[in-house]
Amino acid sequence: MPTLESLPTEVLFGVLSFTSPFDAKRCADLSRIAGSSKHFRQVTEEYARVLLVRYAKYNPKSVPAYTYRKKWIGWVRSTCQLCGTKTKRRAILDRGSTCCKTCDKKIPKLTMTSVIQTYYLSKLDLFTPNTLHPNLPPITFGIYVVGGNDTMMLSMPDVLERKRLVHGMLEERVQGEAALKARCANHERILEAMDMTFRSNRWSKKGRIKEIEAKENAPQRLKTQEARDRYIGEQLEKERRLLGIGDGSTETDGHGFRVICHRRQSDGQGVN
Ligand SMILES: [Zn+2]
Repeated sequence: MPTLESLPTEVLFGVLSFTSPFDAKRCADLSRIAGSSKHFRQVTEEYARVLLVRYAKYNPKSVPAYTYRKKWIGWVRSTCQLCGTKTKRRAILDRGSTCCKTCDKKIPKLTMTSVIQTYYLSKLDLFTPNTLHPNLPPITFGIYVVGGNDTMMLSMPDVLERKRLVHGMLEERVQGEAALKARCANHERILEAMDMTFRSNRWSKKGRIKEIEAKENAPQRLKTQEARDRYIGEQLEKERRLLGIGDGSTETDGHGFRVICHRRQSDGQGVN
């Protein structure tokens, strides 16, 4: 009976290409596969040697046996995958990609502020899936740390696609700058009532609702949990109707506040 090990080497090389050998976070999977048997150790070594020769212009003739994997992993993690410059920096939008600062600057990105002000998309439109958009996939974003402060950057092609999709779903009367701005402002009020914020790379409780409740001039919609629940329910229903999705009902987690995050965003934490 044929086994995985009996497959021709070129077929096994094809299988190994699915381990993301160019991904700085995942290229060590080659070593895990190598540990499964003597045959796979030999195959992964040969695969790493071929990659080194082809992409790193490496001549490994004098290298002792069973070190090619290690050299390949080291090369991927210390070489800009776009220009070949030596760097250990990771791309802002793709933490698995080793990328120098110069090349990363050429990858189109937008700040959160410019997305809200120029493209009229709210955090609820962008950081999906969530209670308003349960079926929209996550968009690509990354955290860029400058002077100790986190700056969120979003993939420009992803933002443009999201704008096309969301604005296309909205009814005619929401089109136009003023209506779109008002919609974004309404989403901020909904998030305020939920006491939720998108921080670093996930939705989390903001923890400010008690402080707001205690203010004498707090808006009626924020004064009690009951008022907040009613407001959130009504506003989400309205927003869903404008998008032409769902039956307008809202979900609760059984503890009085609405479930906003259906699935955590992928790992986006990073440093420059
Ligand atoms: Zn580069």
